[in-house]
Amino acid sequence: MKFMGGRLSLFEQDFIKDADCTKDTPVIYGKEDAPIYGTGIKLKPRIPGREDSEHMKKIYLKELFPLEEYDFIAVLLSGGKDSIACYYKLLELGAPKEKIEFWHHDIDGGHPLRRMDWRCTKEYVKAFSEAEGVPLRVSWRVNGFFGELYRIGASEPVEWVEPDTGEIKQCRLSQNYIKCRELKEKATEQMEQELKKYGYRMKFPAKSGDLSRRWCSAYLKIVVADSVMSNLDKTRENVKVLVVSGERRGESKGRSKYNEMEIHRTNAEKKARRTVHQWRPVIDYSEKDVWEVLKRHNVNPHPCYRAGWNRCSCAMCIFSTPKLFAGIKELYPEDFELLKKDEEILGFTLDNKCDLETFIGGAKSCVYHGDKDAVKSLVTGSFSPDEIYVKGKWMYPAGAFHGAEGGPC
Ligand code: SF4
Repeated sequence: MKFMGGRLSLFEQDFIKDADCTKDTPVIYGKEDAPIYGTGIKLKPRIPGREDSEHMKKIYLKELFPLEEYDFIAVLLSGGKDSIACYYKLLELGAPKEKIEFWHHDIDGGHPLRRMDWRCTKEYVKAFSEAEGVPLRVSWRVNGFFGELYRIGASEPVEWVEPDTGEIKQCRLSQNYIKCRELKEKATEQMEQELKKYGYRMKFPAKSGDLSRRWCSAYLKIVVADSVMSNLDKTRENVKVLVVSGERRGESKGRSKYNEMEIHRTNAEKKARRTVHQWRPVIDYSEKDVWEVLKRHNVNPHPCYRAGWNRCSCAMCIFSTPKLFAGIKELYPEDFELLKKDEEILGFTLDNKCDLETFIGGAKSCVYHGDKDAVKSLVTGSFSPDEIYVKGKWMYPAGAFHGAEGGPC
């Protein structure tokens, strides 16, 4: 760690990479926090935010408001361990559950036939929300990953479920979407050509840090969250919101440079009198620190970790390694065959260089069969609230401490 003019410098590594983290790594940040809620304390980042470009200067945030000043706190809950650790951090700091909402983005968006994500993720997140008594706001882009993959014309709208009423709400439709809908209703011979003027996808996301090419993260997660934030009734009037998410420096080079706190993209103080701050409370945590939080709260990790995966992303994440894809082929042979068909139809492979079978090559499936309940959940999609807390002794899941295989999402 180096001090530069009174500031910590990120030039020297000041975090533990997941690839270097083991069961024996000491717990540093994952220890229990003391309550501060209601004391007027303003949390500051451990490493000050970046100011090295115009954009970074614009989103720079020196400190958070005292936690009690936020009207509500949206915890982005993917179902992965890091998002769960964020929630418990808030609780340990004393934030009341009534102020917290879980926000989950369903990557499959209700597609009638296809799935990119684990079958049990939605059930796991729902079970966690029920077990903890915290409302869950699920949102999605209609038809999800595969709708966007085969999109000709404008993207489908974003929807969400109101936690209190179960009502499905839709974000304001774009002018382009409305025009495309009219074209589809007319269904003329030139329809496809006309629709293409409004954009089309027809290729897999690129394995890249550039979000304009890695469209899955942008279109199915980031834009979905932003649209919901801007469309909620309760974020229109003089409101202060804290968005909490679980990125960690140890996961990847890209994330190692993230700010712990910053002004969120949906901040609109002048237009909507809406202040939105983003906080990444576990940014400096090692993988060991995060598991320590789940252990302390006795939480049963998402079944994918227990079946051998080291990260909980989309099941068929584009960044999956050959042995992870071999695991998918074993668990979901039909979905895997359909993915191979997609490569043929689109004339575009999921990997940048070769087709899926070649990519897997001779890799052995990563599936760990010692935890039968976990494999059952992954295959059937079931997960109930009474499975959220571990009944016997808490143990590291089979996928823990395997290094950050796979991608940055
Ligand atoms: S987890 Fe992988 S496939 Fe899913 S949105 Fe993120 S990068 Fe894309």
